[in-house]
Amino acid sequence: MSLLKQTLFDLENFGIFPAKRLGQNFLIDINIVNKIVALADVKTGDVVVEIGPGLGAVSEKILNIGAKLFAVELDWRLFNFLKSKFASCSNLCLTHADAVDFPVAGLPQNIIEFKVISNLPYSISSTWMDALLEYPNLPQSISLITQAETAQRFFASTRPSEICPISIFIQSAYDKVCMYKVAASSFYPEPTVSSTMVSMVKKQSVFLFKPRTKQIIRRIFTKRRKQMGRICRDECVELQNWLSEYKIFPNQRPEEISIRQWQQLNEFF
Ligand code: SAM
Repeated sequence: MSLLKQTLFDLENFGIFPAKRLGQNFLIDINIVNKIVALADVKTGDVVVEIGPGLGAVSEKILNIGAKLFAVELDWRLFNFLKSKFASCSNLCLTHADAVDFPVAGLPQNIIEFKVISNLPYSISSTWMDALLEYPNLPQSISLITQAETAQRFFASTRPSEICPISIFIQSAYDKVCMYKVAASSFYPEPTVSSTMVSMVKKQSVFLFKPRTKQIIRRIFTKRRKQMGRICRDECVELQNWLSEYKIFPNQRPEEISIRQWQQLNEFF
């Protein structure tokens, strides 16, 4: 049976109507399912975290490879559906929760090496990513399908309007491997926004921001139209020291500061 037919059958059989609020745009193109799993290079014995398994199209592929899968699904209807669909799979650990509170799907903390895969519910992409980056063990790789704009923002360069705090934090920890457009026809129902598959791998040397630095960077970006000299005058003395030490011009705006310069701000807290 094609993935589209299977999806329509499962939805009807379980009386599930896709909820827009939960970003329920299910993958119906098997090539995209195969591609995201291949990008993550999932192998037998790997540990994989999946956010929002939905009807289990991606999960099934991961489980069939023989990886151990930790998945978190917010919708009770889908959680129950998955419980029965994968009842015989001992390599699945499914949690019913909000992925923002469980960014690694309840993975035990002693598991250090793992990969993340998700066709993300678009509404939580940034908040979930923020929560993931706070997790003590960062995943080896992250392969996502997300709104095109979000993927662009994750890997935005220092260019007006696109770069934001999450771009700085992600690019300090991950290198982008590739980014592909995913056609709206790959989903049921079709999303109204454009989608992108993005894959990233953990840097050899991850730069971790202190919580205080992150907080300050976030605050600075709420004033992104203002000049740095003005912003720093209204903030703490550490920011003024950073400006003069690293030769950041007072007339520069937050979006013109390089990632390296933001990292140097860490030294002042
Ligand atoms: N993985 C499935 C696929 O590719 O067909 C479904 C992907 S669908 C875009 C997003 C999934 O995330 C849905 O199953 C939805 O119920 C779930 N979801 C939405 N918000 C969530 C949250 N905050 N935490 C966990 N899962 C969530």
